[in-house]
Amino acid sequence: MERLLKELSADFPDLKFVRGKYCRWSPTDRTITYSAREPEGRTEWALFHELAHATLGHTTYGVDIELLLLEVAAWEKAKQLAQSYGHIIDEDHMQDCLDTYRDWLDRRSTCPTCGNNSLQQGSDGYKCFNCQTEWRVSSSRFCRPYRQKNRSKNKTSPALSSQTTFQ
Ligand SMILES: [Zn+2]
Ligand SMILES: [Zn+2]
Repeated sequence: MERLLKELSADFPDLKFVRGKYCRWSPTDRTITYSAREPEGRTEWALFHELAHATLGHTTYGVDIELLLLEVAAWEKAKQLAQSYGHIIDEDHMQDCLDTYRDWLDRRSTCPTCGNNSLQQGSDGYKCFNCQTEWRVSSSRFCRPYRQKNRSKNKTSPALSSQTTFQ
């Protein structure tokens, strides 16, 4: 891990690599945060994934479906990056990660009235074309449940969370 970090820092001098609680890519300060809390071996995979977001120039996204597409692209790129550093990312792991985004998208786009899958209107609202119900979704972007849990305890984070970061 230390050797990989050294290599990546040398190969990507315009990026910062910081150890933190959660893995993420912050386009604003061009920083990749990696977490040693990930299960054995997965820290590297996560690192390649965040690096993929960085090298693909992912900075923001409009509607929810775009985030899923960016995540798919990031894993494809992560696979190539990992290979060039002699690592192989487990296919099931990638699909599991993407599933969390698919589930998230599904929850947000399902009509609360009739259960129909609906189209997004703007950045934080959906409208059902079956029963015309309109509902709003949190604009706080993609959050894993454990992040939300932590956020309520931490009063300093709201400013931070309004930035777009990628996990
Ligand atoms: Zn409906
Ligand atoms: Zn990601």
